[in-house]
Amino acid sequence: MYYAGVDIGGKNVKMGIVDDFGNVVSSMEYKTLMERGYDAILLELIENIKSLCEQAGFDFDELSGIGIGVPGIVNSNAGLVMSCANLNWKGVDLANDVKNLTGKECKVCNDANCAALGEQRFGSGRNYKNLVFITLGTGIGSGIIINGNLFEGLGCAGAEAGHMGIQVEAEDICSCGNKGCWESYVSASALISQTQEAVKKNPNSLLAKMCKDGVSGKSAFAAAREGDAVAKNVVDRYIGYVTYGIIGLTNILHPQAFVLGGGIANEGATLILPVKTMLNEYIDNNGFYPYVDVVCASLGNKAGFMGAAALVM
Ligand SMILES: [Zn+2]
Repeated sequence: MYYAGVDIGGKNVKMGIVDDFGNVVSSMEYKTLMERGYDAILLELIENIKSLCEQAGFDFDELSGIGIGVPGIVNSNAGLVMSCANLNWKGVDLANDVKNLTGKECKVCNDANCAALGEQRFGSGRNYKNLVFITLGTGIGSGIIINGNLFEGLGCAGAEAGHMGIQVEAEDICSCGNKGCWESYVSASALISQTQEAVKKNPNSLLAKMCKDGVSGKSAFAAAREGDAVAKNVVDRYIGYVTYGIIGLTNILHPQAFVLGGGIANEGATLILPVKTMLNEYIDNNGFYPYVDVVCASLGNKAGFMGAAALVM
């Protein structure tokens, strides 16, 4: 059977037709153009699903369901998008609107939760029924899977690991209004600030030279690979922040694995190995067995729409 998965972002919409085994039989990406408003975005979305079915060589009537991931607070039980700042949607009845326009079953979920489900069903988390998925991107996205199912909390408003407090006396105020959120230390934006600070303090370092044309989330990792001590210090401290939060989550959930995605996870083993080692040393020292795996996400930007498709499988 075939299912449509859609990942609506503030800038781009990614979608694909996925079969029961996680094969993507057709896919596309196009600009969201959110200023067009909800109705126009919705109608184009349905038209594009129809053409993806055609591309894949079957009729839209044969499509078994449509799953949609949205960046924001989504009540997936009711199919409602409660709020989505990126798209300027508030209280949108998305699942029902799609159902009414297409006659298909439709489920809607937070985009990070969809990506978590995608990785668990078809990606590097497929050997685990209990995992926590974290995206280290511009912000932090997270999803929790318990016994193969998404855990979303009351009103589906939970599983927001990025807003877990890790520093009571922090001065930085997070986008959520709280202080000392994990996101303020481990997002790509946070790593860029940490790198900029080190550049300012060490203007003669290789890191500073490599950042002449701008700082990205890759800068510190790249300079550390060249042997720069200042950059290595930034990377070590950053990895420490990542591990600190993961240890906190392990104490609450003790999942089988953490799956790390997002731009910074592209650093691969440089990030994953020290996190995994420090986490399991902590577990070992406290006798909190069993060990917990830490792996890189493997579906890239397909995780969102593949997980969205899995919502209706
Ligand atoms: Zn926060």
